[in-house]
Amino acid sequence: MKGLLFNIKRYAIHDGPGIRVTFFLKGCPLDCWWCHNPEGISPAPVETERIDRIGDREFHSREWVGKEYSPEELLAIAEKERVFMDQSGGGVTFSGGEPTLQYDFLLETLKLMKNAGISTAVDTSGLVSGRRIMDIAEYTDIFLYDIKLFDTDLHKKFTGADNSLILDNLDNLLQNGESVIIRVPVIPGVNDTINYIEDLRSFIEKRKKYRILQIDLLPYHKTGSSKYRHFGFLDRMDGVEQTPVAFMDQFRELLSTTGIRVKTGG
Ligand code: SF4
Repeated sequence: MKGLLFNIKRYAIHDGPGIRVTFFLKGCPLDCWWCHNPEGISPAPVETERIDRIGDREFHSREWVGKEYSPEELLAIAEKERVFMDQSGGGVTFSGGEPTLQYDFLLETLKLMKNAGISTAVDTSGLVSGRRIMDIAEYTDIFLYDIKLFDTDLHKKFTGADNSLILDNLDNLLQNGESVIIRVPVIPGVNDTINYIEDLRSFIEKRKKYRILQIDLLPYHKTGSSKYRHFGFLDRMDGVEQTPVAFMDQFRELLSTTGIRVKTGG
């Protein structure tokens, strides 16, 4: 069995506890306007132009984003970083794209990692069938779970999909005793409002008896813009500036009243 990945990052400490190896699986059922990994949305390899500059000369070539790996190959990559992961309390993270879209491959790889004693995290949008997410939970230590918007129409507009299954899956995971880090992209013109913060605070307040380990607030930044140019994708956030620090501080303070640790930045 093979899975399709578009990136692997070693020592990525931003997306969960400890030093982590993060595997980025291709394909996502959502289409968020602000996506920082647009090359990961298509489930197929994406052809791109590579430009290398040496001195004042440019060299153009075509390259494909997306490479197949077996679960055993990913385990071998993780094993190389084992000493750092073990000593820091880290592990591996499956991200994307939406990693659950390659369900069979993800499940098989998670099982291998768990059998090898490696801690696992799955970074998910939550748009996956209820049965599949619970299967995945059996082999996952921590979920990194996005909450983008509560308003269904706005969620559809800015991500291309309804949010009811996403919110149901989150509740099922929490009620099943799973450990969850809530991840909230804070996007100007989309969800950077006091109303949204208040809705989020009350949503979390009602669920804080469960194992919500942390809330990560992820400010919108422009680093993804160059990718849109590079891949020739339409940038729907063109002209939008990054989320102001003052708003992020206000957001963090309001959410901190839940008693759950709130961290700004991924
Ligand atoms: S869920 Fe994540 S990977 Fe998928 S489109 Fe949205 S931001 Fe991009």
